[in-house]
Amino acid sequence: MLQGYASRILTINLQNKKIIEEELEEAWCKSYVGGKGFAAKILLERSEKGVDPLSEGNLLIFAVGPMNASLVPGSNRLGAFFKSPLTGIWGESYCGGQIATQFKRAGFDVVVISGRSDEPVYLLIDDGKVSIKNADHLWGKDSFETQDIIIKDHGSDFQVAAIGPAGENLVKFACVDHAKGRQFGRCGVGAIMGSKKLKAIAVRGSRKYEPADIKAVEKVRNKVLTEVKEKQKALSTYGTPAILPVVNEAGALPAYYWSGKPFDDYEKISPELLKSKYYKSRRSCYGCSVACCQISELQGETHLKSEGPEYETLYAFGSLCGITELSWVIKLNDVCDKLGLDTITAGNVVGFAMECYRRGILSKEDLDGLELKFGDAQSALDLVVKMAYRKGVGAVLAEGVRGAARIIGRGAEEFAVHVKGLEPPGYDPRALKGMALAYAVSVRGACHLRHMAYRPNLVGKHPFRPEIKVNRFSYEDQPQIVKELEDFYTLVDSMIYCHFLCLPVAGPILWDEMLGAFNGVTGLNMGMDAFKECAVRINNLIRLYNLREGAPPDTQYPKVWLTQPLKRKGAEGEVISEEKLQEMLKEYYRLRGWSDQGIPTEQTTKS
Ligand code: SF4
Repeated sequence: MLQGYASRILTINLQNKKIIEEELEEAWCKSYVGGKGFAAKILLERSEKGVDPLSEGNLLIFAVGPMNASLVPGSNRLGAFFKSPLTGIWGESYCGGQIATQFKRAGFDVVVISGRSDEPVYLLIDDGKVSIKNADHLWGKDSFETQDIIIKDHGSDFQVAAIGPAGENLVKFACVDHAKGRQFGRCGVGAIMGSKKLKAIAVRGSRKYEPADIKAVEKVRNKVLTEVKEKQKALSTYGTPAILPVVNEAGALPAYYWSGKPFDDYEKISPELLKSKYYKSRRSCYGCSVACCQISELQGETHLKSEGPEYETLYAFGSLCGITELSWVIKLNDVCDKLGLDTITAGNVVGFAMECYRRGILSKEDLDGLELKFGDAQSALDLVVKMAYRKGVGAVLAEGVRGAARIIGRGAEEFAVHVKGLEPPGYDPRALKGMALAYAVSVRGACHLRHMAYRPNLVGKHPFRPEIKVNRFSYEDQPQIVKELEDFYTLVDSMIYCHFLCLPVAGPILWDEMLGAFNGVTGLNMGMDAFKECAVRINNLIRLYNLREGAPPDTQYPKVWLTQPLKRKGAEGEVISEEKLQEMLKEYYRLRGWSDQGIPTEQTTKS
C-alpha cells in the first residue's frame, strides 16, 4: 500500500451497531487522492438516490487525506461529506484544529456513518478501537459543555467534535463545533448528526506516518515556513477579518441584507478596532505557525472569551444585519458556536427576516413580539436562540432562507438570496464578476471556498499566473479562472490542506508544491497532468451526484443580484447581466467538456 494513507475505511451503522472495517483500495489513491475524492466516490456509489438527508439512509462521511498528520503546515483539516439537509445536494464542510491529526493517527482514512440510533450516543475512536457510547447525559447540553464532559471522562488527549441544541433540533444549518471555536460550519452537518442521535465524536491515536521521500516533503515544508511570515502576516495579525477593508473598498461588502447600499459604519467593525479592543491572544491549528485564530474577550457583566469572529461572521451579523457594535457580533458568534449554528447562514437568515420586517411582510406579531429592525442586535440574538430551539418563528427560520421564504410567501422568495439553497458568504458578486459564475457552479451552492475566486478578482491578478491581469468587472476570462481554481481546491480538499496556506496568487502552496508534497508523501511519481485529471474526475463525480439528486439549474439565480444595481463607491451601478452569466456558463461547460446543459458527457467521465 502507498505511504501517507491509513489504508482503512470504517463503516458504522448506528441502527444495528455494526462496525465494519475494510481495506482502502490503492487504485482509489491514484484516482481520487483522498478526503473529498474518496467521499465523492462513496456518496455516489453507496448512497440511495433521493434519500431524505435527515433519514437513517443518509451517509455521513468523515475523511482525511494523504497530507494529514504530515510535516507540512496546514495539513490539519478533517472533512465531512453528506447530502445536505439545507440544500438537498452535495454537502461538504471542513474543520481545523487538532481533530484531523488524531483521526488519522487513530488509523482511518474514512469513517462512514449510517443508520439512526434509538438513543443519544457518541463515538469513541481510540487508536483503532471503536465504541458507541450512551449520550443521554449529554443530550440537551451545548457543544462546549459536551466537549468538556467527554474530555473529563476520557482524557484531554482526545479531540472532540460535538453538536449543540441546534443539531439536536434538526435546524437545517446546524454546525458541529470542535475545540470551542472551530467548526464544520456549512450545509447543516450538525442536523445530520442530530438526526442520527449522534451527539459527538471523540478521537485519539498514536500511529505515525513516514513519508516515502522525506526530502521532498521537507522542501515544501521549509518553503511554507519561510513564506508564511510575510505572505500570511495580515492573517496572523488580524485573522480573517484582515480582508474586510479590501472587500469594502471594492464595493463588495454586502450590507442591510443584499440591498446594494454601502455600510456606513464600516469603521466600527474594522479589523483594527477588533484587534486593539478585543483580541487578547491567538491560537493555531496543528502544525501551523500562522496562528490566525484570534481569541476575543468581552469584559464587564457579559464577560466572555471566544474564538473569532471570522470575517464571514463579521459580515453576516455586522454589515448584513446593520449591527455596528463589535461586542454584539462577538456575543452572537459565541452563542452560535455554543448552540451549534453556522454563522454565515444564521446571519443571512436574521438579515432576511429584518428585510421581511422592513417590507411589512413579517409583522411584530409574526416575529413573536420582536421589532426586528436592521441594527437591533438584541432582537437578532433573541431570534438566534429561537432558531436553535425551533421556538415560535424560529421554527420557520430554522429552515434557512430558501425554506423560510417558501413558508412565509407573500413575495418573500423574490428577494431571498441563496444559490441552490445555500446562503452566500460576504462577497457581493455584482462587484466581483468571477464570483457570479463561481456561486452559480459551485458544488454546494453559494460558496466561497471551493474556488476562492474573490481573491484574484480583488487583487486583479490571475491566481496561478500573476503576470496576467484580472478585471473584476469583466465577464471574460472568468470561466477559465473559476475552472482552474475549482480543480486546484478540489485537490486541496482531497489532500486535505487549510485554504489559507494555499491562497490564489500568494500561495505558498500552489500547484507545484501540492504535487511535490503528494508525491513525497505517497512515493508516487505522478505527473502534473495526471494530478489535475484527478480533480476533473472528482468534480465530474460530484456533478453527476448533484444531477442525480435533482440540483436546481445553475441559471436559477437570486433576482436581487440580476436586477438591483449597487449603490456603493467602488462598484457604483454594477449588476449581474443575465445574458453574460449565461455566456460564462456556456464557456465554463465547454471547458469542462460538459453538454450545453451542464451535463458531463460519456467522453468526460470515462477516464
Ligand atoms: S492558517 Fe489559520 S486556520 Fe489555517 S491551519 Fe493555520 S491557524 Fe489554522
